[in-house]
Amino acid sequence: RRGVVIVGAGMAGVQTAVALREQGWTGPVILLGAEPHQPYDRPPLSKAVLLGKAEDSAFDVDFEELGIELRLGVEVTGLRPADREVDTEAGPVPYEVLVLATGALPLTLPGADGVPGVHLLRTLDDAARLRPVLAAGSAVVVVGAGWIGAEFATAAREAGCAVTVVEAADRVLAGALPAEVAEPMGRWYAEAGAELLTGARVASVEPGRVLLADGRALPAGAVVVGIGARPATGWLAGSGVELGPDGAVTADERLRTSVPEVYAVGDCASFPSGRYGSRLLVHHWDNALQGPRVVAADIVAGGSGEQVYDPVPYFWSEQFGRFVQYAGHHGDADAMLWRGDPGADTWSVCWLREGRLVAVLAVGRPRDLAQGRRLIESGTPVDPAKVADPGTALKST
Ligand code: FAD
Repeated sequence: RRGVVIVGAGMAGVQTAVALREQGWTGPVILLGAEPHQPYDRPPLSKAVLLGKAEDSAFDVDFEELGIELRLGVEVTGLRPADREVDTEAGPVPYEVLVLATGALPLTLPGADGVPGVHLLRTLDDAARLRPVLAAGSAVVVVGAGWIGAEFATAAREAGCAVTVVEAADRVLAGALPAEVAEPMGRWYAEAGAELLTGARVASVEPGRVLLADGRALPAGAVVVGIGARPATGWLAGSGVELGPDGAVTADERLRTSVPEVYAVGDCASFPSGRYGSRLLVHHWDNALQGPRVVAADIVAGGSGEQVYDPVPYFWSEQFGRFVQYAGHHGDADAMLWRGDPGADTWSVCWLREGRLVAVLAVGRPRDLAQGRRLIESGTPVDPAKVADPGTALKST
């Protein structure tokens, strides 16, 4: 029997393998991963692992006991659906059902590739290369004030490095949050002693310094590029698996691709959100935990599972001493309400659509997040006055 072959041994791939066993799949499960390391979790890479507070973040999964065949250091280079095979350097691997879980690759800065001292932060190897930079207290320039840039800047300040963050947009988290919400978050940089330069473009990177378009030269013992990531799907070109303009595999509501018996999950796949009425590409941990359960259920049901994937997306970030959490999707909200003063240590923001909560951002207010998430899931109407009162629990009217 060919069994289920999973390409990519990150969070989504590992969780798919585990969920298959949990849900009673008894056939073979083969997990192929390009990296040589025991499968590991990524969020600690920009936090404890970077600071040397944790050696690694390997998943606590006994693959052998679960009967999961783990093949590491194996890069999959192609898919031939007609033969039901994927290709690797070590030869073809036949499948009965295939799961694409190849995650995402960080975008690189044009002209900075191969320049000594320029780093990305996606893999355990990246984190291992950055650790000595932090330990040495080098001056670092971070390109990009997104989630990764903020977390790296936090760790680097904690390690005592001089930190300059260069952001092309006029604010932090420009791709993720509206200006009025990003504004107070941008102030956290200076508070932590990091210099934030918004509206600043990198012209070139040389060993030891970064030159900006306006002529400024920033000394840089190291440069960390955190300007986003793109689904790792280049290897699927010509396979017949449909990809969107964002490079993501366009999965359906059960995470099936355009090719029979082929699923896609995690950072590499977009899915139609019935809840939000649009296609979502989510690059967060919880999506790589929840999606696999739906994939496994459908595989176990022989492709006719009843469960659809329609999550309330969730993520967290730890930056500048704050615990930031977000649930939902505010893209089509018609009202935004503050809960608390954004200048204070803790506050939240709620987004409503037609009197119902659709998203919540909580800074140091985990209870708002938990209650808000339930309210978003239930879709019950809320009283805007109560939502705006940080002293009142978030609940339906
Ligand atoms: P990945 O984790 O990228 O795993 C994919 C795996 O597939 C990789 O190991 C890759 O080597 C392998 N692969 C790729 N192509 C091939 C191929 N052709 N053949 C074989 N193998 C292949 N999310 C949060 O919600 N909160 C956080 O605080 C947070 N912190 C993060 C910090 C960092 C530094 C990073 C990088 C991400 C963070 N995330 C966080 C996001 C979260 O880690 C990702 O959403 C999650 O890892 C996605 O899992 P995945 O399995 O889809 O992809």
